[in-house]
Amino acid sequence: MRHRPAAGTVAGRGRAGGRGEGVEAMAAGGGAAPPGGGEEEEDDLGYRLFPDRKKKPQGFLVRSLFTFHNRCQLMLRMSLETNPYAQLLLAAMKQSGCTVFNDRHFSCENCDGCVSGGFDSATSQIVLCQNNIRQQSHMNRVVAHELIHAFDHCRAHVDWFKNVKHLACSEIRAANLSGDCTLMNEIARFKFGLKAHHQTCVRDRAIRSILAVRKVSRETAEKAVDEVFDACFNDLEPFGRIPHNKTDAKRAYKDFLNRDRYNANL
Ligand SMILES: [Zn+2]
Repeated sequence: MRHRPAAGTVAGRGRAGGRGEGVEAMAAGGGAAPPGGGEEEEDDLGYRLFPDRKKKPQGFLVRSLFTFHNRCQLMLRMSLETNPYAQLLLAAMKQSGCTVFNDRHFSCENCDGCVSGGFDSATSQIVLCQNNIRQQSHMNRVVAHELIHAFDHCRAHVDWFKNVKHLACSEIRAANLSGDCTLMNEIARFKFGLKAHHQTCVRDRAIRSILAVRKVSRETAEKAVDEVFDACFNDLEPFGRIPHNKTDAKRAYKDFLNRDRYNANL
């Protein structure tokens, strides 16, 4: 389900409803009257200043898409400025030499199905599915999840397309560290009580993410995840712990900044 054009994977290519569609396409089509074009001019009557006036009233769908886009950008800014998961990851990216810029590296777009986001390794862009992310808490998780893929992409030479184990590893880390599997989220999904519930959730989500973006069998996905599970589950960079909630993430962020300061003083 959620998060389909996952890990730096498919996003670029097979991204349904990809770049140029939706809002951007509409903006381009928006009353850009040819300058000085003969009869156009006569019809103009100052409408050039208000291109939307000239157009047919927008249908409900088009108007909702604008709203989705604005809402998405607002929630994104909120995540980047206030969510400790995102703040830590942004700091870590910067430290690794991959500074993330809001305008260049994030893109709110319409996606199909219940995909929430994706990381496009070709452009190092994170796609946020504006039509499917409706809550700030969801946005926070998607941003953190995709930033972990971006972090892995930055620090390691990840072979997203050819090596399914690389993808598996990043999906395990993203599920483990983004808050995807925090207890509250699991309760919201009506799954509780399992002893090793966090690990089960991480494994399960990693497998589902792989299946969503790769044409591989369930066995192949499971095998890849199981083979790298221990190593990747225990790789907690840049958090240094499993952030089970915002408080954990805040502590991790503080520790990260201190670690940085300490290194700088050496
Ligand atoms: Zn993912």
